[in-house]
Amino acid sequence: MVEPKYVAPTGTSDILSPEVERRNCIVDKARRLLGLYCYQEMIVPTFEHTELFVRGIGEATDIVSKEMYTFGDQKGSSFALRPEATSGIVRAFIEHSLYTKSMPQKYFCIGPMFRKEKPQAGRYREFYQIDVELLGAEQPSADAEVIALLMHIFQDLGLKNLTLKLNSMGCRICRAPYREELVGYLRKVEKGLCRNCRERIKKNPLRVFDCKVEGCRHLLREAPELISVLCAQCQEHFEEVKKYLGVMGPDYELDPKVVRGLDYYTRSVFEVVSPSLGAQNVIGAGGRYDYLVEDCGGPPIAGLGFAIGIDRTSLAMKRSGLKGYEDKSLDLFIITTSHHLRFETIKRLDILRHQGFSAEMDHLSRSMKAQMRLADKLRAKIVIFIGEDEIRKGVLGVRDMATSSQEEVPFEDLLDYLYQKLGRKEKWGARG
Ligand code: ATP
Ligand code: MG
Repeated sequence: MVEPKYVAPTGTSDILSPEVERRNCIVDKARRLLGLYCYQEMIVPTFEHTELFVRGIGEATDIVSKEMYTFGDQKGSSFALRPEATSGIVRAFIEHSLYTKSMPQKYFCIGPMFRKEKPQAGRYREFYQIDVELLGAEQPSADAEVIALLMHIFQDLGLKNLTLKLNSMGCRICRAPYREELVGYLRKVEKGLCRNCRERIKKNPLRVFDCKVEGCRHLLREAPELISVLCAQCQEHFEEVKKYLGVMGPDYELDPKVVRGLDYYTRSVFEVVSPSLGAQNVIGAGGRYDYLVEDCGGPPIAGLGFAIGIDRTSLAMKRSGLKGYEDKSLDLFIITTSHHLRFETIKRLDILRHQGFSAEMDHLSRSMKAQMRLADKLRAKIVIFIGEDEIRKGVLGVRDMATSSQEEVPFEDLLDYLYQKLGRKEKWGARG
């Protein structure tokens, strides 16, 4: 083996089989459910004007202040690789006047996100999210539907024993006096806080609840809680969300310490924690953002959504013994016993693939025995032999690998034979 000259950048990874199959399963199942809930897919750029994220996510957030990959162009514009997809979807929603259509509008986006974080298990610099947004409904039933959808996706993947944590972050009206009260408390305990949290007191005090440092967590146990000072409207909204969730099913835990890290959140916020992961155990999270569309230059339209971390979800599935994919097998392997029948072989292979069968042959002129081993390795259900004798007789040798029984099948009967043998009901668009 050679020493690699180039390796993937820190915090990124090559996703190989079978990990890639598990991730495809996550994405396929989520797409199916998102369809049932009437969401439309949207593909937004992987980079945007830096200003959009600064405005949308908030200058004082960890993401904007230290985690964004920014770069310029020849004209002096500044761009950033997207650290999340909500801002891009909201920008597109405004840019294409999608708010003129009937509400609510439901969008999702799947793809890579980029944050300059310290790489560790479950925390990468390039990671993947399924991002889901519902725009144009401030009613609590929308919150409940979005939260139920998030749990439905995890349930569909077979993940069990997850904890759904729920809180309300209030609105601008109730948050302002609370912020003052919290700052007062934090000033009192400032000496015991970590350097980051001390900085947060000035810039983004609510974010202290996100701190993972044990000393800070301990001091915050006594901190005033926003949930107990919500204004009447936010209180009522939250009560309704809980009632709707009550009839829809997903169990939840109220956790006044759940405070999402981005500035734009209002009212309902939620996180889903997996018991099988270590420190980075939140596999999906989201909340309501009733001011974001307006803050990004659009009309005052409410919104909410969530993002599922595909990397952590896949890890949680792996740790729970959930493969998420079927073991692959091959319908057919064609073996040729004679080198000059390779043209005939590749022609048959092409016809069979166009008929919808997964099929393979050997390209390396291996011996019969080695070709047979390859067919075994690929878990071929049927092996077809093409040799001089067979061609002369107008037949093909067909071996059922499960029973090891072999028979001769006339050329013209092969497709029907295979449809029957492999349990296919429909023929694909025929060719050749
Ligand atoms: P954390 O508190 O773990 O940093 P976050 O609040 O920054 O998470 P969000 O912005 O809410 O995360 O993103 C939603 C989900 O995306 C997270 O719950 C997590 O599963 C995943 N995620 C976020 N950052 C990363 C990362 N750097 N690497 C892998 N997954 C991530
Ligand atoms: Mg983070």
